Order: sequence, then C-alpha cells, then structure tokens
Amino acid sequence: MQLLNSPVNSFEYAGTTIYVKRDDLLHPEFSGNKARKLAYFLEKPPTGIATLISYGGTQSNLMYSLSALAKLNHWQFRYYTKTLSRQAAKSRNGNLAASLNNGMELIELNSDYDRVTSALISTPHQLVIHQGGAQIEAEYGLQQLAQEIILWAQQNNFANPAIFVASGTGATALFLQKHLPFDVYTTNCVGSPDYLRQQFNELMSKSPKPWQLPLILANNDYRFATPNATLYRTINRIIETSQIEFDWVYDPVGWQILIDNLAQLPQPILYLHCGGLLGNATMQARYQYFFRQHN
Ligand SMILES: *Cc1c(COP(=O)(O)O)cnc(C)c1O
Repeated sequence: MQLLNSPVNSFEYAGTTIYVKRDDLLHPEFSGNKARKLAYFLEKPPTGIATLISYGGTQSNLMYSLSALAKLNHWQFRYYTKTLSRQAAKSRNGNLAASLNNGMELIELNSDYDRVTSALISTPHQLVIHQGGAQIEAEYGLQQLAQEIILWAQQNNFANPAIFVASGTGATALFLQKHLPFDVYTTNCVGSPDYLRQQFNELMSKSPKPWQLPLILANNDYRFATPNATLYRTINRIIETSQIEFDWVYDPVGWQILIDNLAQLPQPILYLHCGGLLGNATMQARYQYFFRQHN
C-alpha cells in the first residue's frame, strides 16, 4: 500500500496565512506522520513475519496504526505497556479500544517494563517497532513527505517556508529536516527541550553522518497530555478559524508554541497535521473532567 500526496489547505490567523499539510487525510487507519513512519513497512511488508511487537502508552496513535498494519498482513500483534491506570482499564476507548478490536494482544508489565522492552530485537519471524516508531526505517516515508513539501514550495514560489511540526519522539522533525532545504521548527510536547535534543542526537547517531538538527522552540509550560485552560482556548480558536479538526494531545501545544513565536518565524508557515484524531475522545473526556474540577 502506498500513501502519498496529501493536500495543503490554508487559513488566516492574526493577519498571517498559515498552510496546513493534511497528512491526517492520508488514510483512516494510517494517518498523519504514522503513515509516513510506517510507509517502509506498508509498501514493502517483510515476508516471514509471524509477530509484530511494539510498546508504549495505550493511547498511542502509533499503536493503533500498528494494529492495523498487523491485521493487514495477518501478523499477530503484541504490545507491551505499563500497568493501566484504573481509569484506562475501565474505559478502554479511543486508540486502545480500536487496537484491541484489531486483535492486539496487550501485555501489562510493571517493574519489568524497561528490562523487557529494552531487550526486544527483530528476528526473521518477529518485527520490533520501537516506541513511537522512532527508528531508522521511519526515514523512508519522511523523505517522501519532504519531496511533497519541496514540490509544494516550488509550485507556489515559496523560497523559504518555515515548516512546523509538534514533536514526541522527534523522529518526524529530524528526518524531515534531513531531506528539506528549509528550516524545520518544532517543540517538545513530551519532556524538556533537552530531552528532545537528546532524542535527536540518539536517532541521528544511527546514520553514517550528521545533519542540521530541527530548531526547537522551547515548551517550558505545558506537560504532555495534560489539560490546560490556555491550551484549550488556543486549540478551539485554531479549529474554529481553520475549520480543520486537530489532535488534542500534541496539537494544542504545537499551536500554542507556534503562535507564541509567530512573529519570529520566516513566512509562509506550513504546519504539518500529524493525524491522531481517533485519540481525541479520550483527551476530550480528560478536559471535561478537568473543567468539572476547576469550575
Ligand atoms: C505521533 C504524533 C506526533 C509526534 O511525532 P514524533 O515523530 O514522535 O515526534 C505529533 N503529532 C501527532 C498528532 C502524533 O500522533
């Protein structure tokens, strides 16, 4: 399966035209940057695989795409996670419900989690995809995305667009920057700016030679997947103005930091929509709970 050529939309925000690369429209099950990160395996599924293995949080957008990949290829899918919170175990919605529905075998580990997951290796029969898909194969699809962005800029005579993407593992920003002649800007949605830089360096060290790192616009205020009244206002304003639905975990932080830095960035700005909408119900439920506590 090949997933390519997502459209670009635009909207006006505070007198600035912002373009949005709609990777959320690539495919209902393989959407956003997860489609790009998995393009290598989608286009050329390895033969002889019996089991796909991964690990991470149970609201992970990648987990859901992996469950669809496994189903498509008739592979077993085993996913390791830390012991579920009582809330998550009870509600099992969003990405978790959809992944279980695709046949995912969920294994909860407590104190053994780090030991087990760090020892996972691929074999001829078992394909391991690391947390968030941050591995060298992700480069393949992100290079395709870079090509689409270069073509878009040429067709529109944009000499120096600023490309923005919200980072988790940072793999998307890092590999995009490798293959783009424009600056890639990002922000740390998970952990500190230093942590993100560390992730960049770790992933880059697996390639033969280094390249320019994406520019990190520091997020020092917002914690991952944590409701916040400022973020809530911002993401609602963006959704209303753009008439585009965004993810509620990464994109509120992404948009907030982008808007905070808007005046300093070259123009035009292209915001990469990384999909992830299936997880929205879960995050919106957290917001409802948050506002009940704070009103
Ligand atoms: C996974 C994801 C990201 C982060 O991608 P990384 O390559 O891990 O940095 C950003 N936004 C959304 C919506 C995602 O699902």
